[in-house]
Amino acid sequence: MILDAIVVGPIQANCYVLGCPETHAALVIDPGDDPHAIEALLERHQLEPAVYLLTHGHIDHVGAATPLRQKLGGEILIHPDDLPLYEKASEHALAYGIRLPRTAPPDRHLQDGETVSWGQFSGTVIHTPGHSPGGICFRVAGEWVQQDPFSGSATAAARGAAPGERDSSAGDPQETPPAFPDWVFCGDTLFQGSIGRTDLPGGSHATLLQGIRERLLVLPPETIMAPGHGPLTTVASEKRINPFLQGGA
Ligand SMILES: [Zn+2]
Ligand SMILES: [Zn+2]
Repeated sequence: MILDAIVVGPIQANCYVLGCPETHAALVIDPGDDPHAIEALLERHQLEPAVYLLTHGHIDHVGAATPLRQKLGGEILIHPDDLPLYEKASEHALAYGIRLPRTAPPDRHLQDGETVSWGQFSGTVIHTPGHSPGGICFRVAGEWVQQDPFSGSATAAARGAAPGERDSSAGDPQETPPAFPDWVFCGDTLFQGSIGRTDLPGGSHATLLQGIRERLLVLPPETIMAPGHGPLTTVASEKRINPFLQGGA
């Protein structure tokens, strides 16, 4: 699979592009802004967008979906609980001095546990409300993703996990971790060393923490977390260093 990423817009959101080299179909996660730059990235990999997967409805994650769909086609997918945010994104953006086109109605609604496919690949939706009511994460099997989207180097080295950094308390120390751990594109639910803010409309700190603990921290420790802002991290690393997740996990 082709995996690339670009940081877009004034709020510096990570937009990830997952491409199928056989069919040239691409999944675009969080096309937040800078449609021309995203289009250039798609062209560079000879990809055509099949799906725009929005992890949530905040302005910095949705702004380029409508212009890209108008020009290149593809379907916009979002969880229905974030429709009120998504539909008002251009109004909300103005409050930050950011101009966004009016958002087109989404083509489909995402549900927890649903499989989303593009070309020969697919991934699974994990509903993790709290940062926003309809916030989702998206899990993709690791054997398909073998490159760091930011540096282009192999994942194991690039995700910054030194050999001793793995969670030694988890499981049999003899157990060899998979060569290519799964990836979870986690929007603004979890960041390296932090979690999503919960002071915006529809946010809930308790709900967010519950989702992170029950849906994300239970994943294999090597699982790579690809957040909506900032660098990649892993489940093991966040269990160990994230100040919001200490105690009771
Ligand atoms: Zn957000
Ligand atoms: Zn964001």
